[in-house]
This record gives sequence, C-alpha cells and structure tokens, in this order.
Amino acid sequence: TVAVVLFTSDLRLHDHPPLRAALQRADEVVPLFVRDTAIHATGFDAPNRAAFLADCLSDLDASLRERGGHLVIRSGPVVRQVRAVAAECRATEVHMAAGVTHYAHRREEQLRDGLRRQDVELHVHDTVGTAVAPGAVTPSGSDHYAVFTPYFRRWSQEPLRDICPAPRTIRVPDTVRGEPLPARDETPDVSPGLPVGGETQGRDRLSRWLRDDLPGYEDQHDDLAGDATSRLSPYLHFGALSPVELVHRAVRTHRGPGREAFVRQLCWRDFHHQVLAARPDASVQDYRTRHDQWRSADEAAEDIAAWRDGRTGYPVIDAAMRQLRHEGWMHNRARLLAASFLTKTLYVDWRIGAGHFLDLLVDGDIVNNQLNWQWVAGTGTDTRPHRVLNPTVQGKRFDPQGQYVRRWVPELRDVKDGRVHEPWRLPGQERPDDYPAPLIDLGDGLARFKQARGRN
Ligand code: FAD
Repeated sequence: TVAVVLFTSDLRLHDHPPLRAALQRADEVVPLFVRDTAIHATGFDAPNRAAFLADCLSDLDASLRERGGHLVIRSGPVVRQVRAVAAECRATEVHMAAGVTHYAHRREEQLRDGLRRQDVELHVHDTVGTAVAPGAVTPSGSDHYAVFTPYFRRWSQEPLRDICPAPRTIRVPDTVRGEPLPARDETPDVSPGLPVGGETQGRDRLSRWLRDDLPGYEDQHDDLAGDATSRLSPYLHFGALSPVELVHRAVRTHRGPGREAFVRQLCWRDFHHQVLAARPDASVQDYRTRHDQWRSADEAAEDIAAWRDGRTGYPVIDAAMRQLRHEGWMHNRARLLAASFLTKTLYVDWRIGAGHFLDLLVDGDIVNNQLNWQWVAGTGTDTRPHRVLNPTVQGKRFDPQGQYVRRWVPELRDVKDGRVHEPWRLPGQERPDDYPAPLIDLGDGLARFKQARGRN
C-alpha cells in the first residue's frame, strides 16, 4: 500500500506524527510539499520567509535522501495537486498536520471531500504544530481560554505525548514526478542578516542553546543588547522543530527558573493557537469589542512611514524597526515596544503594523503575529488593555548601556551609555544632526489614547 504525507508547516523528520503513522501503515510513502498558489496569491510568501522555506525544503529533501527517499515538490492549487499525486501513486491514504487558521480549516475540508471521491482517506494529526492540541483543555463554559495564566496552569498539567523518532529508511514509489527544489538565491530582496533555515540548522541551534543559554534565560530574556533568547521562532514557524520535543528536551536538560521561563514562552504559542482555533476571525477582526476609532491610514501616513523606516526619533523604536529590516527578526521586547508605540502612541490600527511585520518577519505567522499585535493594541487577550509602554523608560530599563540602540542606529554611535535613549536632551554640540527629533510628544500621545479609550 501507498500513503502520501502532505508537509505544510511541519518541515522536519524528527517527531513527525503524520510521517510516523504513514510509515507504520503503508509499504511506500510519498513525502509531498505543494507550493500552493493560494498562499502565493495572498503575498504571504514574502521574500524572507520564501528564502527560509527554500532552505527548509532543501534540508528536508537531503535528510530524506539519506534514508533512501526524496521530497516530491509540486506547484498549484493544493487540493488538486494532492488528489493528482494520490491518483498517480494509487495511494489509499493521505496524512497531514492539523492547522488552526481559516485557510487551514478550508483546505482540510476540501481535501477530505475531494479525496473521499477517489476513495482516499485523509488522516489529520494534532500536536504537530503545538505541544498541546488547541481545544484539548478548556475552561468550563467556553471553548477556549481567554486569559493566559489559568491556561498556563492547566496546560502545565497536561501529559505530553512521547517523541516519535525520525525514520531510518523510507521507500518512495517511482511513479510520482516532482519539480526541482526552490533555491534560496532565487528570492530577491532578502534581509542581509537572515538566518539559514532547515531542520539540521534548527536542531544544532537548539542543542547549543539548551546547553549554553537556557540556564540564564529567565534573567536575560528581556535584555535587548544581550540577545539571549533562543531565536528558534523561525524554525518553529516552519515546523523544522517540534514544540513537543522542545518542551521535553528543555525539561530534561535543565532544572531551574530558566527552564520554567522558557517553557512558559512556548506555552504562549499554544495559548494563541487555541484562541485562534476557536475564533479564526481574530486574525483580522478585533477579538475584544472597542468603540474608539483609530486614526485613518491617510491621516497617519507620515507617522506610519517614519515608524516603518525607523525614523521616529525614539531610539529604541528605531533600533527595533531597523533590526526587523536587517534580520527579518526582532527581539520580543522590541516587538512589544514597536507595537505599543504604533497603536497606542501614534494611534494607528494594529492591522497596519501587523501587515508590515508579516512583510518582513521570517517567523511571521498569522497566529502569533496577529494575536500578539492584538494583545499589545488592547483589542486582544491582555487583561490590562490600557497599559502603554513608554519607549524612553523601557529603553533605559532593557538597554541600560544603550548598546542595542548603538548597534542599529549608527547616527547615535558616538553617544555614550544610557544617554542614547534621550538624544534630545544632549547638549547642542553632542546632538547628532542626522538623527530626527521625536515624531510626537509622549504626553500628547498618551492623552489622545486615554481620551479615545475613555469613551469605551
Ligand atoms: P524565545 O524567547 O527564545 O522563546 C521561545 C519560543 O517561545 C519562541 O521561539 C516562540 O515560538 C515562543 N514565544 C515566545 N514569546 C511568544 C509570544 N509572545 N507569543 C507566542 N509565542 C511566543 N512570534 C512568532 O513566532 N511569530 C510572529 O509573527 C510573532 N509576531 C509577534 C508580534 C508582536 C507585536 C509581538 C509582541 C510578538 C510576536 N511574536 C511572534 C512573539 C515573540 O516576539 C517571538 O516568538 C520571539 O521574539 C521569538 O524569538 P525567540 O525564538 O528568540 O524567543
């Protein structure tokens, strides 16, 4: 018998339940990835993610070849391609991971219907993209947790499934033809500091990070200059690493506050997944009803452009936005500050900021990006939706010596220590004349926000 495994956001061989199930049930397996024209049409395959994806696919193909198989690549509408491949190799079943977005739900439904018509069974596996399946734990009277802390408490008690080992061998039928692998260098406009993708890279980074940096994570994860977080998010986004395996390995490697803090961050991923699974509209609609109006995109056009380009005159915001453009990645604390500044100080719709992040972030995904933006904008699950982060106070706290700012804002390279966070206070001869004055007075921004939200 033959089974097809449709890879989507799960580009790995280790701990891959759909692949394991297919190998246990069938003699031959077709590992398939479809370059889906519907995803291409939305622009979601922005250059940084397209380049990282190309790395992931090459790495997956190489790992399959070491085991006697290879990856089959096809392009087109995903349902049509899967049905065609299943027919070509006379497969009786197709295995894939569950998803939570509107798009993933629709794809699953259409696949199930289409495959049934040719007598092929679709098997959808959970705990591939999350450690705990969305909906597996719920509070009484609701289909999802809207507050993180009780979710975390409940999530922590949930038994994790065991890790599935990577297969040793795999036999692919020779009846199915594929296309050449996409190459990273086919993608123009990639950020110069983009990391290399793929399961092999991800696993190396994970092992190094668990050994060297996990113990200090709790103390250092908010230190902007220290850059002491795992940077595993792009590997998790593409599923080059398994969240179940990450939790198991973090717990096994280390005991102490670093581990607790790291596992808690992984739980944030699952938290947002279970919110979006229950409320798929939250990718575009406010999760929580609001009665105030953002400034219009036209009215705020210049402010939005200054924010995107890192020219707001607030050094930590500008450093964050320039890091995003250069690396396709941004530190979590910097994301919080940049998003709070756009939505609460400039009073611009979170969807505009989220769209810009999705254009550049290599880890950019609908679940974590949209719901974190909503959290910061006060339209999501934050229990203190009116809090506003002051970029100067936060800059001094999380980048006290100013190294993060000096790294990304060369105009301020010669300004010593924490004074870099308030260049407008420097004496005239020390103030760099090529760095902009603040775009807005923080007090005015706060007053506007309070007035607008006060109407709620
Ligand atoms: P670490 O600190 O090492 O954390 C380990 C892992 O935990 C991360 O890789 C990530 O998978 C998960 N994690 C950590 N914090 C969060 C969080 N707040 N929400 C969900 N998961 C979390 N993360 C994305 O993966 N994709 C996004 O598109 C994305 N957009 C964001 C937008 C905004 C406005 C904000 C405030 C946060 C966003 N995040 C997003 C969450 C977080 O900033 C990144 O996951 C984190 O910075 C990635 O760096 P790291 O791997 O070094 O994290």
